[in-house]
Amino acid sequence: MSKAAVIGGGISGVAAAYYLQQYGLEVDLYESSSRIGGRIGSECVEGRWLDFGGKNIGRKYRRFREFVTELGGLDFEYFGFNTSQVINGKVVRLNKEKERLFNILRVLTLAGFGGTLKLLPLVQAVSKDYGQGFLNTPYFNALADHFDDKSLASFFPKGCADHLIRPVTVRMNGAEPEECYPGNFGSNLALVLDSYEQLKQGMQGMLERFKVHAQSVKLLTGHHVKALEYSNGETVLHYVHGSESRRERYRKVLVALPAVQASALFSDSLPMLSALLDQVQYYPVAVAIARYRDDVFPDMQRAMVFDRFSPLSNAGAYSIRDLGIVRYTFSGTTARSVVTKESLPDDVISLGEKIIEPYFNIKQNSRQNFIYKYIFPGLCAYSPYHYRMLQKLDELVKPFKGLLLTGDYRRGASLEACFRAAAETVDLVIQQDAA
Ligand SMILES: Cc1cc2nc3c(=O)[nH]c(=O)nc-3n(C[C@H](O)[C@H](O)[C@H](O)COP(=O)(O)OP(=O)(O)OC[C@H]3O[C@@H](n4cnc5c(N)ncnc54)[C@H](O)[C@@H]3O)c2cc1C
Repeated sequence: MSKAAVIGGGISGVAAAYYLQQYGLEVDLYESSSRIGGRIGSECVEGRWLDFGGKNIGRKYRRFREFVTELGGLDFEYFGFNTSQVINGKVVRLNKEKERLFNILRVLTLAGFGGTLKLLPLVQAVSKDYGQGFLNTPYFNALADHFDDKSLASFFPKGCADHLIRPVTVRMNGAEPEECYPGNFGSNLALVLDSYEQLKQGMQGMLERFKVHAQSVKLLTGHHVKALEYSNGETVLHYVHGSESRRERYRKVLVALPAVQASALFSDSLPMLSALLDQVQYYPVAVAIARYRDDVFPDMQRAMVFDRFSPLSNAGAYSIRDLGIVRYTFSGTTARSVVTKESLPDDVISLGEKIIEPYFNIKQNSRQNFIYKYIFPGLCAYSPYHYRMLQKLDELVKPFKGLLLTGDYRRGASLEACFRAAAETVDLVIQQDAA
């Protein structure tokens, strides 16, 4: 059986290993840390796994769901969308489960006439063809050609950018509309137009199943790849395991890392590729999950989104049945200046509690425990004219047969987009063999 290496044990690497195994290949999966999962990483609290990162699964996540089915099936639970937003000090509610007409009117009011005119064709493009809701698609590449000299903040009228676009970008890209570009917005719209569930056993349950299922995948946790070079039709991996530095050669290598981490592997051997990957922007995000004695949220208002003056971008119930577990997310420019890598978890959670206290049951409540993680690279905000960067990247890598790159910057940051990118990359490596 032919052997391949995958670098990175996040969902992109897991997906790449899964597809390679489907083609009958053996896989060595290199992961720096002691556990696979990366940004879907979970932590066990009183016997229950709670997810810090990607956990909401869209109903349209076809590839991800096929993967879960292949693992033997796992239970999903409805996540819902009973949310609200603070605008100029006032609370505005959006309830996706009921009041559909009311919500449409609310969205149109927030967008304004000019915003609606701009938004409508983009929404139509993704609604008609879900395939446009990823990075590097014909409709949005054409949009990039015309408009990526401007950010989303200039593309949309101000009110629309502040009240409708920002809650989306700050949540999905960790970025302000000033830091995101029209050509990539289809990948956001696909997520906005979906509805969500989550795995009852959390992402950890899925990863445990994967470990059992992936019999042709050797999990090399604690293996940090330092550099890659290409010689004589093979990719040489330089890696550190414990205190030892080693090297291994492979004919097929899939780099499944965030662009910023992939860049580091090529800085000596392929500096142009490294510089290109550095164009992809990542922003930090801090997540705290706290359990309280009593419910914090009422059932009809399970989340709240805050404006750009707040370091807390949103706070929400962990699940539809966990109204007393709050997930606090800090992202965006204000968060970046207030919450840093050095911030103390206690200070960050207290800040979150202070911000939501006027709206929810926190004051008379008591916190039982909490977990906290500062994530960098956190959320991917891509780059202007992103598809052109991807084209250049493919051209640069083309001469190196068997070496390919996948990750959250190829088709989008959602779990589904990571699966799609991995499937396409694996197909390419297999086609190279057949050619
Ligand atoms: C807070 C947050 C919430 C999110 N929510 C959702 C959501 O609800 N739904 C959704 O669809 N998406 C969500 N996302 C997006 C999604 O989770 C991520 O885009 C996805 O998990 C990225 O996976 P990845 O494998 O590409 O990267 P990563 O998860 O970063 O994986 C990379 C892995 O490579 C390892 N690594 C790094 N360098 C090396 C090296 N040199 N050698 C070996 N190993 C290395 C890392 O340790 C890591 O495990 C969220 C993301 C965040 C941060």
